[in-house]
Amino acid sequence: MIVAGNWKMFDGPDPRALRAALGDLPHVVAPPYTRLRECVEAGLTTYAQNVHWENEGAFTGEISAPMLQSLGVTGAIVGHSERRLYFGETDLGVARRAHAALGAGLAVIACVGETWEQRESGDTETVLRVQVESVRDLCGTHDNLVIAYEPVWAIGTGKTATPDLAQDAHAFIKSLLDLPVLYGGSVKPDNAAELLAQPDVDGALVGGASLDIDSFVAICRAGS
Ligand code: PEP
Repeated sequence: MIVAGNWKMFDGPDPRALRAALGDLPHVVAPPYTRLRECVEAGLTTYAQNVHWENEGAFTGEISAPMLQSLGVTGAIVGHSERRLYFGETDLGVARRAHAALGAGLAVIACVGETWEQRESGDTETVLRVQVESVRDLCGTHDNLVIAYEPVWAIGTGKTATPDLAQDAHAFIKSLLDLPVLYGGSVKPDNAAELLAQPDVDGALVGGASLDIDSFVAICRAGS
């Protein structure tokens, strides 16, 4: 069971205080780049929020797997819906990021999920299939790869998927690619246990609630 906190473009909590509060609880944190070193030095399991497929080059604003590894970062999120929506990231680009990161030895959380319009028009499975298969075609079932199912309509909105809806989507994703699947979308201390109790929910990717130490620790505890 993995509970990962995506701090997005927020400074986030004090890494040492978070480390102390987590005790032995399994966790991942994905802070902004400026806090990666501090999180590693505090002893947190630290992932980046993205990673490029090349090791170096003329790719302004990007960061590579070896650069992250030189800081002690052990994994990366790829394909977050905010990257897809605001920065034009494509299925192929997301798969290339995942493939390169895995090849370099990073763990990867690859995000997929449908918008509300896609769900309403009955296209959820088609969207998930295209997103998951593009990762599958390049990466296969790698030991260091997990998928995060993050319905776009549930991210940062306070609208959480029902446990049944999450379970159905996770089972569908696993039928395409047999890997652990995390749920993401307004996970909070008061809904985490029920979501994480679903048979095909293998952890959580937490945005807003990971910025608060008590909330994040409570969700990690629900997952442990
Ligand atoms: C996320 O950023 O991946 C996320 C799920 O955000 P939130 O928990 O705030 O919905």
